[in-house]
Amino acid sequence: MTDTDIFISGGGVAGLTAAAAFGTAGFSVTIADPAPPITDAATQGADLRTTAFLQPARDFLDAAGVWGRLAPHATPLQVMRIVDAGGPDPTPRVIRDFDAADIGDLPFGWNLPNWLMRRELMARLGELPNVTFLSGTGFKSMLTRTAHARVTLTDGTKLTARLVIGADGRNSPVREAAGITAKTTRYGQKAITFAVTHDAPHDNISTEVHRTGGPFTLVPLPDHEGKPCSAVVWMEDGPEALRLADLPEDDFNAAATARSAGVHGSLALASRRMVWPIISQIADRMTAERVALVAEAAHVMPPIGAQGLNMSLADLATLLDLAVCHPDTLGSADMLDAYARKRHTDVKLRSAGIDLLNRASQAENPLLRDLRAKGVAALHSAAPLRKELMKLGLGARG
Ligand SMILES: Cc1cc2nc3c(=O)[nH]c(=O)nc-3n(C[C@H](O)[C@H](O)[C@H](O)COP(=O)(O)OP(=O)(O)OC[C@H]3O[C@@H](n4cnc5c(N)ncnc54)[C@H](O)[C@@H]3O)c2cc1C
Repeated sequence: MTDTDIFISGGGVAGLTAAAAFGTAGFSVTIADPAPPITDAATQGADLRTTAFLQPARDFLDAAGVWGRLAPHATPLQVMRIVDAGGPDPTPRVIRDFDAADIGDLPFGWNLPNWLMRRELMARLGELPNVTFLSGTGFKSMLTRTAHARVTLTDGTKLTARLVIGADGRNSPVREAAGITAKTTRYGQKAITFAVTHDAPHDNISTEVHRTGGPFTLVPLPDHEGKPCSAVVWMEDGPEALRLADLPEDDFNAAATARSAGVHGSLALASRRMVWPIISQIADRMTAERVALVAEAAHVMPPIGAQGLNMSLADLATLLDLAVCHPDTLGSADMLDAYARKRHTDVKLRSAGIDLLNRASQAENPLLRDLRAKGVAALHSAAPLRKELMKLGLGARG
């Protein structure tokens, strides 16, 4: 039986970041995932999405010893542009810019490919002798006591840990083993993700175009074959998303250009297309005896405002602060209660906000679409409100 301070179930971006952060802080960490991380873009099954990391996430990644590796590949996001194209024609009728310069010297965040994150996180774990990555095996079951948890993996390996972190995704086996239920909302929507090149430069502006079905978001990437390039998340009703994802390339390019309201000129595919189901889900509790849930094991939401993984890193930062301040009480009921108190309300509030924005963006009814356009213009015109919203989006509280 192996003893470890922390067992992490799940080697997605959240689990790998947790291992780097707790390992860097000096804890012994064992992390397991049945699926080995794919660390290049070409391999089938690679996660070709990109993640916009907001300011607080950068500080956390820096403390985990990974930001230095990621910075050369990161594209800054200086301006968030909201475009409403919900009128009779699919052309922009309201355009509003939220500029990070209004609230400080730094950009809102930095955009990075998910497969590259996995590559650099795995490289970081290789530098930490106190972190063991078990690939090809996963969490099977656990028995918890007040002093520790006994974990059994799918290959029969047994270990004891003072804290079990469930970072094993939206169908979290750790959550299920801990008897924690989750509330799920389905929108009937899917997201198509892909990269495009375009004629007009993106000028480090992240652009969200609203019409119906959900937002169409273009996030800046480095140039591709000498042309400006962006990552796209295109949300639509499920059947329409599947139809679009199967279109021949030229037809898809034309449909994407039309849906983008032409904000960057003609769009041309520069990657494979992937389709992701869109749901909202919140665990009823974020903790159980010796167990903390983080990231999608605790909360899933539509990809709007770059909240998903950024909230996950906020979970990890909170857990790490508590662990570092009181290392002797790692995984105790007091520590886990403090974690739940600090995170669960924030998670519920943000999830409710994103749910509202998503429903507004889905709107079919022309009157609701007009109301949405007026809402964007009104929120932007009041400077103090605009600045508070920007700070809130970054994760600032109070
Ligand atoms: C289209 C789209 C775009 C997004 N864009 C952004 C963005 O710009 N910014 C942002 O902050 N967020 C974004 N998000 C959200 C973000 O991608 C997710 O929050 C993040 O990928 C989830 O990471 P995770 O590690 O929790 O889960 P996952 O990536 O699902 O990882 C879970 C891991 O657990 C493993 N696992 C499963 N079973 C077991 C087991 N029995 N034992 C051990 N391991 C197991 C799986 O193999 C997997 O590797 C986006 C989401 C979508 C759908």
